Amino acid sequence: MSDFSGTDDSRLKALQTLIRESDRIVCLMGVGMEIECGLKNLWSSEECYRIEDEYGLAPEELFSAEFYTTKKQKFYEFYRREILEREAEPGPAYAAIKKLQDMGKLYGCITHDVNDLATTAGIKDVIRLHGSIRVNECPKCYQSYTLQYMKSQKGIPLCTKCQVPIRPRVQLRGEMVRNDIMTMAADAIIGADLLLVLGTNMHHPMVRTFLQYYAGNRVVLITLHEHFSDGFADLCIHGRVDEVLPKAV
Ligand SMILES: [Zn+2]
Repeated sequence: MSDFSGTDDSRLKALQTLIRESDRIVCLMGVGMEIECGLKNLWSSEECYRIEDEYGLAPEELFSAEFYTTKKQKFYEFYRREILEREAEPGPAYAAIKKLQDMGKLYGCITHDVNDLATTAGIKDVIRLHGSIRVNECPKCYQSYTLQYMKSQKGIPLCTKCQVPIRPRVQLRGEMVRNDIMTMAADAIIGADLLLVLGTNMHHPMVRTFLQYYAGNRVVLITLHEHFSDGFADLCIHGRVDEVLPKAV
């Protein structure tokens, strides 16, 4: 099926056919989908530069387990401003995935987006590799706290009962993806009849990890930027996910 010579139109038709014929579609969502909705990529070089300038440290240091443990006040200053207060609404790409779910065709939706736009869009059972800013708990009594509570607190948010810092259940640098979540994601990929790789490239570590579990020949990549690894997909469409996917579903 590999086709890099076809016109945009013929590739879109090929994607429409694949979606029509598939009923266990798995979406692997990359950072490009968040950027389309207006979120800044904290790991891009411009953002890294800005953050280092403002905080005196690189984002990978600020957003690390070690920093959380040793410098909570500063961690929360960064986390609140740069993660919790980022505002974005899920766009048409998410609506298209939700539609696939409503049609009974979506077998899995895998993301590393901690802002979790997919759940905001109404997609159910999203596999969140890096956790979610919505899930917060006291490490002592396991009381849960809402995103609103986390946003409303000044300084370090504390458990109202234990007065200990509440831990956001997002994966910090230096922490591993939880085993049960990795297993869920791998199982979804193993069972997929069509894999949609969205807003990332085939060389991305997340994509490379999960491709090992996929034995089929229906990998469709939709991405804005050309990349040397595009040929590893069976079908590649260059464009915005929020423009291409809604046309195909
Ligand atoms: Zn507590």
